[in-house]
Amino acid sequence: MTLFHLRLPLASLAASALIVLSQAAFAADRVHYTISLQNPEQHLVEVTIDAPPGAGDRELQLPVWNALYQLRDFSQYINWIRAESAGNPLPLTQLNKSRWKITGGENGVRVQYQIFSDVAGPYGAQFDSHHAFFNLAEILCYIEGARNGPVEIEFRNTAAGWKIATPLQPEGSGFSAANYDQLVDSPVEISNFNERDFDATCGKYRVIVDADDAQAFFDKIISPIQRIVSAEAGWMNDCPFQNYMFIYHFAESAGGGGMEHSYGTAITLPKGDLDAGFDQFLSITAHEFFHLWNVKRIRPQSLEPVDYTKENYTPALWFCEGVDSTVAEYVLLRAGLLDEQHYLGHLGQEITELETRPAHLTQSAEQSSVDAWLEKYPYYNLPTRSISYYNKGELLGVLLDLKMRASTDDRTSLRDLFHWMNERYAKREKFFHDSESVRQAVETLANSDFREFFQKYVSGVEEIPWDTYFSRVGLRVTISELTVVNPGFQATRAFDQSPNVVQVEPSSPADRAGLKAGDVILEINGQHAGRDFEQKIAGFAPGAGLRLRISRSGVQHELQWNLSAGNQKVFRLQDVPDITATQKLLRAKWLFGDATKQASLPQ
Ligand SMILES: [Zn+2]
Repeated sequence: MTLFHLRLPLASLAASALIVLSQAAFAADRVHYTISLQNPEQHLVEVTIDAPPGAGDRELQLPVWNALYQLRDFSQYINWIRAESAGNPLPLTQLNKSRWKITGGENGVRVQYQIFSDVAGPYGAQFDSHHAFFNLAEILCYIEGARNGPVEIEFRNTAAGWKIATPLQPEGSGFSAANYDQLVDSPVEISNFNERDFDATCGKYRVIVDADDAQAFFDKIISPIQRIVSAEAGWMNDCPFQNYMFIYHFAESAGGGGMEHSYGTAITLPKGDLDAGFDQFLSITAHEFFHLWNVKRIRPQSLEPVDYTKENYTPALWFCEGVDSTVAEYVLLRAGLLDEQHYLGHLGQEITELETRPAHLTQSAEQSSVDAWLEKYPYYNLPTRSISYYNKGELLGVLLDLKMRASTDDRTSLRDLFHWMNERYAKREKFFHDSESVRQAVETLANSDFREFFQKYVSGVEEIPWDTYFSRVGLRVTISELTVVNPGFQATRAFDQSPNVVQVEPSSPADRAGLKAGDVILEINGQHAGRDFEQKIAGFAPGAGLRLRISRSGVQHELQWNLSAGNQKVFRLQDVPDITATQKLLRAKWLFGDATKQASLPQ
């Protein structure tokens, strides 16, 4: 990581030295953040912002969104806020729910506030007696006009024995960053965590684990992480970093997810995931790590510069998130962490998910990207209302790859697309123009017309003729009808929240048992209802008893009924009849190929 610190010439440093001394010992030219962690029981964080002399009037903004494409209004947690200069109170006028104006701050400003911080997971900010984990944008205001200047941060009053892990550059008693955006793009874990470091392709990797039995986790995860980072850096043939940090929380609850950052990632997974199967751990690790290129550096113009005051709309999430997963799964195949059979099974599930959501005929991949800001509403997540840009985007990435290969006799592939975009945009510090730039890149590489593809499947909602793309590699999509349990209701879940009942089938056993739209499902047959609630229910046989603990207007109820039977279409990728040796060869090239392109990595 290279951080640039803008330093004032010596003369002006001397001129402002007196003022600095009267405030605190920190660099005169930087905004300095102090985070005091004194009150874990009540989850109260105290923030002090010291800003150097400058304009008398300054505006202070707390981001209204971060980490998720959702307005979350973090200012709801600010208990109090005040401003002063050299010990004298300054007027602080509130301009809107997340913005304040300070007057009279010519000689420097100190702002202090107390913020409640208890949202767990990689998209949150949490301080309790076990740890502190912060997405800093959720607790730190920036000063308008000073967002691009260098900043420092230090953490005070941390509990005895607690350490600090963050990709930020250590400096003095704290850390520094080139600007506010870089500061808040650096997750921070402060606790009695465990750490294992290793050197691999590109540089140093730190793996931070917050779990009861960290040693057991390290034994399982370090080797796969090493294989993933080497395979991805090799796939990109690029090292845009020298240090990278993985922060893992293995939690009791079933919620989880990952958040990408330029020099690290924070991932929360249910403990059981490592016991029951490794797939989720591998997929999420490969997905978040690849984000260091895709979205953090190969970044759409529509997300730049970040506007922390309102929604930032981009039609490109199908590429930034979905195609990110396409690559992540390819890399797992090539790293020997996933086999062909499981990969094709996974693709079949993705096709099933898309095809069985009626909204695949009404909402395009681009619309789903723009509508990401609606994902916090349960109704929006219904299969009749929306598709997932992760889901369709991953499939579009596969189709683009297959079509590029088909039109060039395997001379270009998705890998070349990422190399091209990395060279053209990331390395030149330019941003790409959403789907249009992707199309242009693909057409340049494949030397053929992809307009129809983008019109029909990226900005359009036409049915995808799967076999047209898969037959070249000896595969076809088969559809079968399965008898499955019909729960009698639809529930959706927004990221790490509990499932929310959106619709109940009239006269169904669920309806007769008293389930209502708006009920929050807490437990299914005595087990916590989380990310896998749909699989839990699907795991029952028709006729089996279902017992839900739900919360309705804050009151808990227990409801039970016997599940009835229903039908579901299942899509699978299977070998075409009479598969040829050529088709087998082309499939191997698609899944494990690029062997001819092995290049040495820059050191
Ligand atoms: Zn992602």
